[in-house]
Amino acid sequence: MLLWLFDRLVMSGGNFILGINLFVAGLLAAVFMGVAAYDGRRLAARWLAGAYLLGMGYYAVELSIPSFRDAIPAVVMAFFVFLAATVAFNAGLAAKYAVRMPWVSSLIFVAASTVVVAFAQDLPRQSLLRMMAYQLPYAVMQAVGFGIVWAARGRRDHLDRMLTAVLAASTAQFLGKPFIAAALGGWGADPQAYSGTAYALVSQSLGTVFAMALALLMLVILVRDALGEAAARSETDALSGLLNRGGFERQAGAMLLHAAGQGRPIALVLADLDHFKAINDTFGHACGDRVIQSFAVLLREAGMRGAVAGRIGGEEFAVLLPGANLVAGRLFAEGARSAFGTLPIDPLPAERRCTASFGVAELLPAESFWDLMRRADEALYGAKKAGRDQVRASSGPIGLPTAAPLRGFSGRG
Ligand code: GH3
Ligand code: MG
Ligand code: MG
Repeated sequence: MLLWLFDRLVMSGGNFILGINLFVAGLLAAVFMGVAAYDGRRLAARWLAGAYLLGMGYYAVELSIPSFRDAIPAVVMAFFVFLAATVAFNAGLAAKYAVRMPWVSSLIFVAASTVVVAFAQDLPRQSLLRMMAYQLPYAVMQAVGFGIVWAARGRRDHLDRMLTAVLAASTAQFLGKPFIAAALGGWGADPQAYSGTAYALVSQSLGTVFAMALALLMLVILVRDALGEAAARSETDALSGLLNRGGFERQAGAMLLHAAGQGRPIALVLADLDHFKAINDTFGHACGDRVIQSFAVLLREAGMRGAVAGRIGGEEFAVLLPGANLVAGRLFAEGARSAFGTLPIDPLPAERRCTASFGVAELLPAESFWDLMRRADEALYGAKKAGRDQVRASSGPIGLPTAAPLRGFSGRG
């Protein structure tokens, strides 16, 4: 087997490239299998591994063609296997971008084009029509891949856009191949001679470049997704689904910079559930957890566009409201306070209500995140001291007294 392969490889430049492509396809298949094994949910990586395995199969068939007397079945087989590889690649794209894979039309298309290619073998070997019958289906499949990534627009960043560009270029490459072949003096007098032609050299090199470019891009995209998901998981609080303290601090830092840069106001609301220890002690820890979850849902639903909410302690929460000044921040907190105070919470007795206290502060010019947090916390402490279930706002730099409750919005206090 190895001797046979060696023999095929040294026969010609075209064969040599076919041989290299076979090994490269194997390596890429192994890499995608590695990615798929690392995270079982990564269906896209499994399809891509399948695509490059089929790619290996294609190169093996191509290498075997010169040893057949009647090469036509092998030529049709090579066409079919490579087209199947492009379908598997598209299935990988569809899985990655959560776009519906056009399975039925793809499979019908593969079958129909294989039949057309089989019949096209009766055309004169150098006929442009025959070459087009062979290359056009590849162009169509790459265009379908392009369409799949395109359908996910709005969820794409520059890497995904680069992928659409490479898929478009690859489509053009397949469309251009019949003309490249004509310009380079054809694709050999018979299938056995194909791998010795200048066209085979160019065509197979182009194929390697595109197969590599697509594989590397997909690899970077899958790794980017995996890292992004890991980062999101590490910044999310499992109980409430809000950001955890670390996640909130990181996002808040970026939002404060952005707000300061744009000269827009931004307000921070801190909240702490009232007498929460008593809820735990009376109804149990699991009930306490349900209260935390209910409060988190309320904060998320009450938040205006762009608001970021986090659970920054056991029963302490923070919401950053971009575009909100102190008055808007207090209104938000008042809304959340009164909504929570009237909310029946499932495992608690029907008449039992929970409350929370709130502290609000608006970012002052040149103020740091920690200063803003400290002022909002001071205001929250003021709300607790004043009897809980109320909103207090910090009117100025640390040390100044906190503002009295908003008229008409004061809770029990
Ligand atoms: P205050 O009105 O002054 O805030 O009183 P409090 O009882 O809410 O405050 P304290 O800080 O004394 O108690 C907070 C309690 O929150 C203590 C802790 O057991 C409970 N807690 C912290 N994290 C969790 C959690 O994840 N689940 C549950 N069920 N309880 C938690
Ligand atoms: Mg607390
Ligand atoms: Mg508390």
